[in-house]
Amino acid sequence: MDAHAQGPVNTSDVVETANWAENVTVTISDARDSFRFESDGIPSHGFAEKYLIPSDPTDQPFAHKPAEFFTVVNSDAYFSETPIDTTITTLPTYIDDVTDTSLGRIGVAITGTQIFNDYEDPTRSVVAQDDQVIHDHVPFLDECNGHTLVDGTSYHYHGTPVCITTELDQDGAHSQMIGVLADGFPVYGNNGEGGAIVTNADLDECSGHFGPTPEFPDGIYHYHLTADEAPYMINCYHGEVSDDVVAAGGGQPDLSAVAIQLGVSEEALAEALGTSMPPDFAAAAEALGISEDILRGVLPGGPGGQDG
Ligand SMILES: [Zn+2]
Ligand SMILES: [Zn+2]
Repeated sequence: MDAHAQGPVNTSDVVETANWAENVTVTISDARDSFRFESDGIPSHGFAEKYLIPSDPTDQPFAHKPAEFFTVVNSDAYFSETPIDTTITTLPTYIDDVTDTSLGRIGVAITGTQIFNDYEDPTRSVVAQDDQVIHDHVPFLDECNGHTLVDGTSYHYHGTPVCITTELDQDGAHSQMIGVLADGFPVYGNNGEGGAIVTNADLDECSGHFGPTPEFPDGIYHYHLTADEAPYMINCYHGEVSDDVVAAGGGQPDLSAVAIQLGVSEEALAEALGTSMPPDFAAAAEALGISEDILRGVLPGGPGGQDG
C-alpha cells in the first residue's frame, strides 16, 4: 500500500480508548486534533528491585566497566515521580523527509512512562541495549528495557518493553499499540501481520511501515520496535513534527539533552546553573553531585566540550 495514497488518519478515537494505565490522563482536544497526556511517570508494571547507576554518566559506553563504576540502588528508595504533561497531534502527517529523534522523550507509552530513542549519548554512538551491563544480577536496563536517569527521575524505555508486549500481543496477530511518538504515529512491538516477526528488512529507515494494525484495520503508518536487532527503538520520525521537536533532534545539544547526558532532570540542571553568565561551575557541580570536570565537559561551548 502506498503511504501517499491515503490522507491523514485521525487517531483521536483510538487514542481516547487505548489501554492507558491508571496513572495516565488522556484528554482529546475539542477540535479532536491533538491529545494531552498527563502522568506521574511511574511505570504501571513497576520497577525492577535494583538498578546499576553509573558513577559518571558521561563516561560511555558502560558495557565493560567494572562493578565499582556503578552504584547499586534500591528502586523503592531511589525513584521519584516525574510529572509528564505533553500534547501530541492526533492528525499525524507522513512526509518524505525524516527528522532524527533526540535524547529525551520522543513519545509516550500506555504504561504512563516515556519513550526515549535507543541512544544514551548525544553523539548517537552508544546504543543503550547494546551497552547493557549486569553486575551480580543487578541490571543497567530492566526486563522492560527501561531505567531512570541517574537521579532517579524520568523512567523511560530504550527498546521493546517486553513486559507489556508479552501481555498484550497475541499469537498469530499484529502487535497491539503500546504508545504514540511525538509525531502522532503509533508504536508497536515486534509482531507484524499474522504475528510474523518484523525485521529491519520489512521497515523503512525510521523502523516504520504502512499497513493495517488491530486499532487501525484500514491501515496507518506506524512504528515497530525490533527486539533482536538494532536500532530496537525509533531513530527518526517519518511524520511531521513541530519546530521544537526538530530542534531537539539536530544541531547543538540543548539543555534537556545535556541534562539527560548528566543523568539529571532538566529542572535540576537549570536550577544548579542559575542565571549568571558564565555559570558558577563549581557550585553547580556540587549542587548536582557531580564533578566540575564532568559538568564542564558536557556544556556546549564549555572548555573541553563535546566534539560530537
Ligand atoms: Zn536511558
Ligand atoms: Zn505493522
